[in-house]
Amino acid sequence: QYTIDKIAAGEVIERPGSVIKELVENSIDAGATAITIEIKEGGMSFIRITDNGCGISKEEVPVAFLRHATSKLQTADDLLKIASLGFRGEALSSIAAVAQVELITKQEDALTGTRYQIHGGKEISNEEIGAPLGTTIVVRNLFYNTPARKKFMKAPATEGSYIYDLVCRMAMSHPDVSFKFIMNGTDKLFTSGNGRLKEIIYHIYGRDITNNLLEIHAANDQVKITGYLAKPSISRGNRSFEDYYVNQRYIKSNILTKAIEDAYRTFVMVHKFPFTVINFEIDPSLIDVNIHPAKRELKFINEPDMYDFTYISVRKALLFKEL
Ligand code: ADP
Ligand code: MG
Repeated sequence: QYTIDKIAAGEVIERPGSVIKELVENSIDAGATAITIEIKEGGMSFIRITDNGCGISKEEVPVAFLRHATSKLQTADDLLKIASLGFRGEALSSIAAVAQVELITKQEDALTGTRYQIHGGKEISNEEIGAPLGTTIVVRNLFYNTPARKKFMKAPATEGSYIYDLVCRMAMSHPDVSFKFIMNGTDKLFTSGNGRLKEIIYHIYGRDITNNLLEIHAANDQVKITGYLAKPSISRGNRSFEDYYVNQRYIKSNILTKAIEDAYRTFVMVHKFPFTVINFEIDPSLIDVNIHPAKRELKFINEPDMYDFTYISVRKALLFKEL
């Protein structure tokens, strides 16, 4: 059983950032409005995620660590579920299989909370304790029992900056949730959760970008586009500032990238790239679910429509202030 969990874990948990991503998604799913993420040594030795979500009942705690255990509806009518297809109910068990995990959780109406420890898939303790509402998960010594995988990890600083980028994108795609990110004891990001995306962009990118943002706002009967893009004059030297989210998920789509860049290309030099934080709200039935979710690549049922509407909307947003 342990071996198969380790194999499964290898697919879901590739690096410390995978742990953060899965746990933060769980916190969001749990209705948390505030999430604190703390890491040390690039997440290899220490990860702690604290949320104020619904918590897990005493009875459900051990179950949540079983493979394929999920309390969530298994319907395909929500992109969140589609994108986690294949990993359903696998995150906690996978993480616990390759690390030393401690969970403290309490539900609103419960008198006491639960503290549960599981190391390498083996239950260490399960006890009642006093705890605040919500869930805290500590993940120590990731891959301590899979040395081969551990060898593949990059330097802690590299993993750390990957996690920073990940948390920033989580924060930008969820402006209603307050995020706090602490790395090696230093505060790296704090967002208030007041819903204002522009404030989050300011915290992450500073004044120069924020003072040069244009708003994008467009909708047809299938798609709603909102967000910000920088004026073409302050475009970037590479693609890493070209962010967009589909139904609050950071994904990649050839068609969206092309539409956004084509719209910019009418203003800027060929070797420049846009700065964007664009949200697409799309009826999930218009998304092609046959694309492998792990690749974070998305396809749309009607690609030409998506291309056209995105291209036109971005161009309009750029034209509005530039003329
Ligand atoms: P999935 O998210 O696909 O359901 P996971 O392994 O990530 O599977 O989590 C298993 C279950 O544990 C979830 O379905 C949920 O019921 C519970 N759970 C995990 N994290 C949290 C959390 N932060 N708050 C409340 N419940 C949680
Ligand atoms: Mg999950």
